[in-house]
Order: sequence, then C-alpha cells, then structure tokens
Amino acid sequence: MWGMRLGREARVTCIACGTRVARSDAREYDKEGDRWERSGKEFEHLCKPCHNDIDHHPRGELERLLIDIEQPQHMTQVEFIHHYHRLVEERYGRSE
Ligand SMILES: [Zn+2]
Repeated sequence: MWGMRLGREARVTCIACGTRVARSDAREYDKEGDRWERSGKEFEHLCKPCHNDIDHHPRGELERLLIDIEQPQHMTQVEFIHHYHRLVEERYGRSE
C-alpha cells in the first residue's frame, strides 16, 4: 500500500531550481507573502533547500510591484526589466 501511495503522490516543481519533488517534500510559496489567506490562490512551491535559502524577512511592496507589472505571454527578460524600472520610477521617483 505504501508503494501505491508514494507512486501517486503529486509532484511539484521548485520555482527556484526546477527540481521535481513530492508535494509533501516541498514548501508552499505565496508571492503575495501571505500564506494564511488561501481563498482563490494557487501556490507555487520551493524545494526544502531553496526554501531554506530564501530571505524570510518581509519584502515590503516588492511582490505587489511585480504582480502589478503586466506580463504578456511573450515578454522578454529585457522588456520585463524595462517595465519594472518604469514602474519603480513612477512610484518612488528617479533613482540616482
Ligand atoms: Zn529548489
């Protein structure tokens, strides 16, 4: 029975390193920083080593900022950085 159970356990992909791990070996990651509010959310996952590596301090407005950036399907990394930089300047003023 154990074999069947293990074989059927859902696997998730770590968003940091791409490793596939059993759901029970992963940690949920909520990009909005609030794992306790669960309704209507779909969580991403981190493997345990990556979860241990992340900074657990509050991230202020960073995640909200990233979510607010419109992300068309085919935005390149360079386009994303330009969007990010423009939004930061709009909200916080020009950096030195
Ligand atoms: Zn990982």
